[in-house]
Order: sequence, then C-alpha cells, then structure tokens
Amino acid sequence: MQIVSSIAAMQRLAKKWQRAGTRIGFVPTMGYLHAGHLSLVRAARKRVGTNGKVVVSIYVNPTQFAPTEDLAKYPRDLKRDLKLLRELGVDVVFTPSDAEMYPGKFENRFSTYIVEEKLSQMMEGASRPTHFRGVTTVVAKLFNIVLPDVAVFGQKDFQQAAIIKRMVADLNFPVKIIVAPTLRERDGLAMSSRNKYLDPEQRAQAVILYHALQAAKAAVKKKSVAGGRLQADLKEFITAAPLARLDYVEFFDPETLEPVKQVKRGTQMALAVFFGKTRLIDNAGL
Ligand code: AMP
Repeated sequence: MQIVSSIAAMQRLAKKWQRAGTRIGFVPTMGYLHAGHLSLVRAARKRVGTNGKVVVSIYVNPTQFAPTEDLAKYPRDLKRDLKLLRELGVDVVFTPSDAEMYPGKFENRFSTYIVEEKLSQMMEGASRPTHFRGVTTVVAKLFNIVLPDVAVFGQKDFQQAAIIKRMVADLNFPVKIIVAPTLRERDGLAMSSRNKYLDPEQRAQAVILYHALQAAKAAVKKKSVAGGRLQADLKEFITAAPLARLDYVEFFDPETLEPVKQVKRGTQMALAVFFGKTRLIDNAGL
C-alpha cells in the first residue's frame, strides 16, 4: 500500500493507471475509520475488481467546518487507519496536508468554490450554512486529483450523497457514484467518527435516533400520516431522552429532497440531534 501526500504524485499515479486502462475506485473519508468506512472500501474493490486500484483519501477538510464547529478536535488516528486499510488491500491512501489542498488560503489566494444551489438548502444545509460548499469543493478537487471511475459514498450522509450525484451530473464529472448502506452498532446507532465524543450516558441515549426512524416506519406501515403530526409526535418521542436536543426531523422525497406534506411508505426521513455539543445525524427510507 502506497501512502501519497502530494497532489502531483497522486495525479501522476492516476494518469498512469488511466493510460493502462486500469479502473480506479475511490472512497473519500475524514479518517478515524470505522466499519462503515471499511464497507465502502469493500464496495469500491468489488466495483473495480482485483485488477483495478482502490484509493482512499484521509483528509479532514477545513472548508466544510464552520468556525464554531469541531475541526480542531475532530478525532484522528492515522496509524490505526493505515493498518486497517493495509489489511483490506487498499492500493493507495491519499493524505494531503492543508497547505497542499488549499495553498495560499491563508494569504487569501484560494477563491474558487463549487456551490450546489438547490438540494443543499434544507436540513444539514439549513443548520450548517457553509458545510456543503466545502464538501462539493473538496470532492471536486479530489476527483480531479484521483481521477476515479467509481466513487463510493455512504447513505448515512444521504443529503451529501444526493448533492454529490447532482454535482457530478450537472458538471459532467466522468465518475460513477455508488451509495452504500449505513452500518450500525449492535443497538442500531449509526456508526460515526463523532460517536467517540459521547460520554456513556449520552451514548446509551443516542440510540433514540434509530428508534425514532423505527417508530416512523411503524407509523406509516399501513397508512399515510400528516407530516406535521408525525413531526410533533417524534419530537416528543426524542426529547423523552433527557440528554437529547432535537435540531430537525424532516420527511422528504428521496429524489428531489422536497419536503412532503403527507408521509407514507417510501418517504425519506432524516433527523439531527444534539447530545451536549455532539451533533448526530441519521436517515432512512420509511
Ligand atoms: P466521513 O469520514 O465521516 O466524512 O465519512 C466518509 C464516508 O463514509 C462518507 O461517504 C460517509 O457517508 C460514509 N459513512 C459514514 N458513516 C457511515 C456508516 N455508518 N455506514 C456507511 N457509511 C458511512
């Protein structure tokens, strides 16, 4: 497994593979890897086969964090991440520095961003206004550096995956986007690097996100339900966990992300809940 931190070296490798007709599968991450990330790596390998190359990037992208967010304390363990990826047979880990990715940012010489204007307005975009601009910009940069044929994202970040798919379609990036299912802990909590922030009491109550998804599924199993009503019921359900503070719970069309008035089977639900300063998200098709 090669560890590459220079953009020029990564592009040279990717171009060499391209010339040889070797397929490139790519999994962008912010590191501190868990089984969810590793499932994306396996999906990438499956897509490109044993003759293809799998590249995983580990980069905590500063432009997707607001100044008030957890950039400085975002968990990192590169040594452990590299061991896990080596065991999985990854070909290249791309780990650039901030100075490599955003040269001149600190002298105000970085000024080109990619902004998706529709799907990024609601939910995560409403709560974190500059977040998706950072995500689309860094993913576009990474696509230009890694030159992937296939890139794998997690359904855990449903809105992010929808926005990346839209960006790829709108701007004609020659890459196929795969969305892989959410991996969960035994009790149902979606795996996330941020789960590390939870103290034992918060961790025990965090399963409320999963239970809220299950409750909504049960509510619409046989009949449709008014969105406002279900929202109010779930708000009460979630705040029954004393440490939980609801940010949002939304019901929407899985393709357009437009909110729906009447919730039924097939409607997508997403929610964000704070436990102290830690903000957790989850979603599911009902
Ligand atoms: P992150 O390191 O949090 O930026 O996530 C990197 C990729 O892993 C993103 O495409 C996420 O959607 C995906 N991911 C995060 N958590 C999970 C999970 N529990 N199951 C599957 N994929 C995940």
